[in-house]
Amino acid sequence: MPTNRVVPFFDYPSLFTTQEDALTEILHDVLHRGAYILQRDVQEFESNLAEFLGVKYAVGVANGTDGLLIALHAAGIRPGDEVIFPAHTFVATAAAIHFAGATPVPVDCGDDYLCDPAAVEIAITAKTRAIMPVQLNGRVCKMDQLQQIADRHKCLIIEDAAQALGARYQGQCAGTFGLAGMFSFYPAKSLGCFGDGGAVVTNDATIAKTVRVMRDHGRNDAGKVVAWGLNSRLDNLHAAVLNFKLRSFPAIIQRRREIASLYDAGLRGLAQLQLPPAPNCDAAHFDTYQNYEMVAERRNQLRQYLKAFGIDTMIQWGGSAVHQFSALGLQAALPRTEGFFERCLMLPMNAMLSNDDVAYVTETILQFYEKQ
Ligand SMILES: *Cc1c(COP(=O)(O)O)cnc(C)c1O
Repeated sequence: MPTNRVVPFFDYPSLFTTQEDALTEILHDVLHRGAYILQRDVQEFESNLAEFLGVKYAVGVANGTDGLLIALHAAGIRPGDEVIFPAHTFVATAAAIHFAGATPVPVDCGDDYLCDPAAVEIAITAKTRAIMPVQLNGRVCKMDQLQQIADRHKCLIIEDAAQALGARYQGQCAGTFGLAGMFSFYPAKSLGCFGDGGAVVTNDATIAKTVRVMRDHGRNDAGKVVAWGLNSRLDNLHAAVLNFKLRSFPAIIQRRREIASLYDAGLRGLAQLQLPPAPNCDAAHFDTYQNYEMVAERRNQLRQYLKAFGIDTMIQWGGSAVHQFSALGLQAALPRTEGFFERCLMLPMNAMLSNDDVAYVTETILQFYEKQ
């Protein structure tokens, strides 16, 4: 029997309202200082972020997509180069490669639905300059294998870690494996600001310097134009908010992992579902659950059923992999990725959910499959 109960997929106003007093004070302070562009809040956030990740440099940019584009350019990717990426990603991964002037080469995912090292190796040609693994849903790819392949073929690795701030593989943070990595602070990302924002991180001083110049019209610290550049700065106001939110970020990750455990305990018995790995099932991975994405039998019916009970779910990226958007001209046959998009479904996953919300979602899913 449908009820009045509602579990939104993501409650956007609560990004502000759950910490309204503290955030209002921060906005007040920044605005009264007139500190809009590249002020001390950006610098502070960059150094706090670098410290959090255990990386030498972090550079704030206007959004994650720009971050990838700038990182690729800084790494020397140029027209004629090929960059391999998993088709199971957001279109922005491929768009950044395209606008860097290179050819995006999509590959299939592995049985973990992340970038498949074997597929990457097969796709390498004499023109391959870089591999762009995507750390999806807060889980890191098999970076040791990807690094070996990159080393063997003398390719660079540039990570799309938009969804994986704080995620680790073999103890190392997402974004810090390759020459450079990117994070997004889009509101619904696990660390979200009140608009668009992103960062490029790297241990390479030259890359950091080039990214810094390129995000600010090609100007160096002295204000002199030393290269072609963009206007892609992280707004100071967003940086101040991110600085504040980064302090409680470990607790947010902890809460996401608890929710993942609850979903896992409630749903693990259902043969009709393939769940993401549970938080502590594999010592190599520390997942941050940017999303809780599963593969479900009778996915569309399940989604409708949940909707009738007030539970919002999402089919990621409109239900298509990047190579399936014909306008982009990325022809490929990638059966595992295509099969995934026919049955994938994301359950609500954010720190605003209560344990009762999670129990309601799992019980409603159990009911759906019991009725078969
Ligand atoms: C969000 C996202 C991006 C783009 O980040 P923006 O900040 O929105 O530009 C790129 N790749 C992936 C996998 C993402 O989830």
